[in-house]
Amino acid sequence: MMKEAKTAKEDKVMNLASPKEISRILGEFQLAPLKKFGQNFLCDQNIVDKIANESVQPQGYVLEIGPGLGVLTQALSKIANKVVSIEIDPGMVEALAHTVGDLPNVKIIHQDFLKLDLEEIYQEEFDGQPFFICGNLPYYITSKCLLKVVESRVPYLSFTAMMQREVAARLQAQAGERDYSAISASIGFFASVNTLFDVSKNCFVPRPDVDSAVVKITPYEGNMRPVDREAYVKVVRGMFAMRRKTIYNNLVKTLGVPKDMATKVLESTGLDASQRAEMLSVDDFIALTGALLSNGYVGK
Ligand code: SAM
Repeated sequence: MMKEAKTAKEDKVMNLASPKEISRILGEFQLAPLKKFGQNFLCDQNIVDKIANESVQPQGYVLEIGPGLGVLTQALSKIANKVVSIEIDPGMVEALAHTVGDLPNVKIIHQDFLKLDLEEIYQEEFDGQPFFICGNLPYYITSKCLLKVVESRVPYLSFTAMMQREVAARLQAQAGERDYSAISASIGFFASVNTLFDVSKNCFVPRPDVDSAVVKITPYEGNMRPVDREAYVKVVRGMFAMRRKTIYNNLVKTLGVPKDMATKVLESTGLDASQRAEMLSVDDFIALTGALLSNGYVGK
């Protein structure tokens, strides 16, 4: 009897972490990993399961960024009540219908995560219940994905994200350290950051140039902050705009604060006008934002 060629759909339990299976599915759907979408697929089931277990609690709701061929989606679906996965690439969306389309608690949405309305997802997909967020993030928009989530007002419980190791180091850096930058001060205002474990570049196909790390971001209680959120973000961005310049210069030139007011604001916060933004902690930025707000220079 002639043996019929297997299709992805006919495979009852697809081993989506197997490099052979990944290339078979890509071939079947006439796809190739796209660099422009940061497509590096996880091919280590232990790592996939570890990420899934960190990402969502049993029976929780979870939003996944960039499911690819669905390896993490599949693992999440075994734990969660509902998984909603956002994928930009129409080719992947087509493949996902075959790899995870039969899982009753998975919904795939074809959309650019950066354009996604998180409030709508929260209300319509998760019944207004707090939810988890996770993803093996596309490296070209890692910072944008992180900032979109932490700056949002949706009640996410935690955001478990895989990213390049040096980005993870930047998120955890403290004022004055080499890796400290605008993203450290921005994320640090909204959430605590914890690096869970490193992941070797050998755990992906195609193999990227650098190693990765899995980071858990947990928003501060109630997502309430001591100063206006938009103002804080604006101040941090403004103060890092010209990294090599002093905070006084950035206040005047980037944020447009009159010179005498800049001097007064810095004096009132006890900050040294000649230092650079990389020396300012989250608390320093909070104090600076508060002083600027009370003088009416930044805000909503
Ligand atoms: N989750 C899969 C895995 O771990 O094997 C794939 C991860 S791959 C690093 C990133 C995925 O994000 C790709 O599937 C890519 O197409 C998708 N992606 C890239 N940019 C995106 C965007 N703006 N919105 C949603 N998905 C995106």
